[in-house]
Amino acid sequence: MTPFEAVLFDLDGTLCRRTQDTQRLYARTFERAGERPFGTPDALWAALDGPPDHDDIIGYYGAGFARLAAQHGRSDADPIALARALRSHVDNAAVELHPGAERAITSAGANGRLGLVTNGPETQQSEKLDALGIADRFDVLVFAADLPRSKPHRVPFETALDPLAIAPERALYVGNSLGYDVAGAQNAGMAVAWLRGDDDVGGYDPEYTIESLAELPAILDGER
Ligand SMILES: [Mg+2]
Repeated sequence: MTPFEAVLFDLDGTLCRRTQDTQRLYARTFERAGERPFGTPDALWAALDGPPDHDDIIGYYGAGFARLAAQHGRSDADPIALARALRSHVDNAAVELHPGAERAITSAGANGRLGLVTNGPETQQSEKLDALGIADRFDVLVFAADLPRSKPHRVPFETALDPLAIAPERALYVGNSLGYDVAGAQNAGMAVAWLRGDDDVGGYDPEYTIESLAELPAILDGER
């Protein structure tokens, strides 16, 4: 018997991943901004402060480019122009489902109610959902960038559970971020299945740790 009446999913890095060529995106960003190239995409991701700040996405990427410019002695570079150029080249439709995502959604939908809780804004995330063709699979969609509070605050999770009339302890959240998904779902009183990437679990304590979404059906069947 299933211990959960609802499953809520994170989107980015959990159900899907980007397929855009990041080297090409990075090179075109410098071309468009009229800047001599420095750094690498990986160095930029490492220079960013955690997941995107959707209230100030240009400032978020600009701070990353500024750190990278400082590392390369490029005080002449314009980090904000680079951030704007990067944003203009990002293709939100260039996404694909993770292995096991289709079956996990089907399994969770057969098990109970289904929701999506993402920190991104609807304008951006709906382009991804359309490209993936999964928007109509969910009973509720929550775009936390459009709410007063984002993950890890409990508000986005409660915003999903309220219309479903399901108590948090009867719901499972599935996400790949320790700080935003594991901490956030637990803030809302939900159990969480953490999709592990390269991160160490650190001081967090997810109820379930999975290597792939293919492991989700066994959790929903109460076999774990
Ligand atoms: Mg994520």
